Amino acid sequence: MSRGRFAPSPTGTLHIGNLRTALAAWLFARSSKGEFLLRFEDLDTATARREHEDGQRRDLERLGLDWDGEPVRQSERMDRYEDALTDLSTAGLTYRCWCSRREIREAVSAPHLPPGHYPGTCRDLTATQIAERETSGKPPAVRLRTEQPSVTIVDRLHGEHTEIVDDVVLRRGDGTPAYNLVVVVDDDAQRVEQVVRADDLLSSTPRHAHLADMLGIPRPTWAHVPLVLAADGDRLAKRHGAVTLDDRLAVGDTPGRVVAALARSLGFEVPDDETTPADLLDRFAADQIALTPWTLTPEETDAPW
Ligand code: GLU
Repeated sequence: MSRGRFAPSPTGTLHIGNLRTALAAWLFARSSKGEFLLRFEDLDTATARREHEDGQRRDLERLGLDWDGEPVRQSERMDRYEDALTDLSTAGLTYRCWCSRREIREAVSAPHLPPGHYPGTCRDLTATQIAERETSGKPPAVRLRTEQPSVTIVDRLHGEHTEIVDDVVLRRGDGTPAYNLVVVVDDDAQRVEQVVRADDLLSSTPRHAHLADMLGIPRPTWAHVPLVLAADGDRLAKRHGAVTLDDRLAVGDTPGRVVAALARSLGFEVPDDETTPADLLDRFAADQIALTPWTLTPEETDAPW
């Protein structure tokens, strides 16, 4: 029995890739008779909207996916994130950072870190340098102080994955707790044992494992499901055609046909035109999940499945 979750950002309509990840996460949890939770990751206040939450819930329900309890919203859980930040700060594991994105881009990268990783500019500032920055009035971000450990996680689908963990942002300059922190805090607070999500987050997962270790909380297991791509190799987007559930229904699909297509793309054999998530439960086996992205041709995005 393994408790799982789906954690969409309510910033728009779920597309086929999101729905496919939701189906996979649901199957992992429900096939083990585990609970399944829905969590809205709505901390990006510039784009997160309540009406998107309603639309996302409706689309999941129309496909036959259910969840336990009321969905939680991250915007209502700020105290927990601050508590975690305080724990890390008390342990001497954080520091303030005044760098702008441009400064980070332009800084010569530390040779031991992969490109794009924070070079550590604000890590060991003197008291005078800190005072100078404080007088600038610019609110600092808070970063994790790491020894840049190489962290290995084991993914159910991809096996071992190792990355160097750099000094990630834990709280942005505008005061918003960062995704990399909140995902760890929430999965622990909600006692999520099994994280199933899209594989664009695989490379961030060693950070999550490291943060869990630093906070003294258990690591969940992870399964990163390949993305759905368009024929041009990009992630699926509106411009690629009928990519939301409403779009699919408008070109003549039914929810059952959409579930059948999603299930086939995940590696299931589905003999019928239509199916339901519940019908797939008996046949679910994690090791059958296809490890390559599902690439949709223009014909597939525009015609019924
Ligand atoms: N909110 C993230 C997204 O919509 C998912 C994060 C996660 O599952 O950990 O991409």
